[in-house]
Amino acid sequence: MLAWVIGSAEIAELAGRHAEQQLAWRVADLDRLAGVADGARSGEITVLAAFRPAAEGLARLDLSIHGTLVLTCQRCLGDLVWPVDLSAELCIVASDDDAGRLREPIDAVAPGPEGLSLAGLTEDEVLAALPLAPMHAAGAGCMAGGPASVPDGPNRPLAGLAALLKKDADDPVGGR
Ligand SMILES: [Zn+2]
Repeated sequence: MLAWVIGSAEIAELAGRHAEQQLAWRVADLDRLAGVADGARSGEITVLAAFRPAAEGLARLDLSIHGTLVLTCQRCLGDLVWPVDLSAELCIVASDDDAGRLREPIDAVAPGPEGLSLAGLTEDEVLAALPLAPMHAAGAGCMAGGPASVPDGPNRPLAGLAALLKKDADDPVGGR
């Protein structure tokens, strides 16, 4: 299950019967993901892979990918828990020529010499969805730079004027 690699004949067969496969890998076992996330604490990435026949005799692969990565915030270097919740629609092609014939705007993937690696595809999709420099959202527990400076009170530039006007009104005027 670790590296589920499927050959072209198997891809066609899976697509022909609309096969669906639920797969899971530990992040620690996915070398490229483990390079950016804390593999020991990131748990598993689960994938639902659905094969479908596509136009031109090709096969289509829909991936639903879920999990949680523990990344490092590039601002404060603290833990950044990053939910993975994405889907991808891919068309499996044999060559670039096939990719050029696709009518739909859909990402094309070609199996390598060994076949199509579901683990590799999953890593590709997750890595593509990650920001180059992941950071906590502002005010979401980022430890860098301390809290943003907050003024002591509401900014009321006219407060002084209001006090002056009140003072005038309180002043007895004339012989009242
Ligand atoms: Zn941070």
